[in-house]
Amino acid sequence: MSSNLGPAIEAGKVVTLHYTLRDAAGNELDSSGSDEPIQYLHGIGMIVPGLEEGLAGKRQGEKTKIIVKPDDGYGERDPRGIQEVTRDTFPAEAPLEAGLEFEAEGPDGEPILATVVKIEGDNVTIDLNHPLAGITLHFDVSIHEVRDATAEELAHGHPHGSDGHHHHDH
Ligand code: ZN
Repeated sequence: MSSNLGPAIEAGKVVTLHYTLRDAAGNELDSSGSDEPIQYLHGIGMIVPGLEEGLAGKRQGEKTKIIVKPDDGYGERDPRGIQEVTRDTFPAEAPLEAGLEFEAEGPDGEPILATVVKIEGDNVTIDLNHPLAGITLHFDVSIHEVRDATAEELAHGHPHGSDGHHHHDH
């Protein structure tokens, strides 16, 4: 291990990283973008389980590849997630078209991301599966910073920016 590496990732650390997410064929699905890295509090399930598990023990300054199976990612696709609803389920002004992603209500009333599959007359076929369900996730991760969470961050259950004192309203 290089001596340039910093602290290791474990529960109670705030981790700042850049990532690129690809599918098995190498198509880019998502990334943290070129400017602001993302930040999360390790050990509380803020990120998908397989990614959190893969990052445990990695150290500040490391670059790593983490492969996450659907079971440890966004789940397998559930055929029951494909449903037909009528057009009036949506607000009149909704830009209805195949591929539109919208927020729907999950089985426990929680907000979930759903997708319009197709529209036939008054019938709209929607998919309540997460867009990344059933996909093996290939993450390229670059770990910029690993630091102890502050007491306030642990109490809030989320990070507060680079210095741990980011101002916000709760
Ligand atoms: Zn807070």
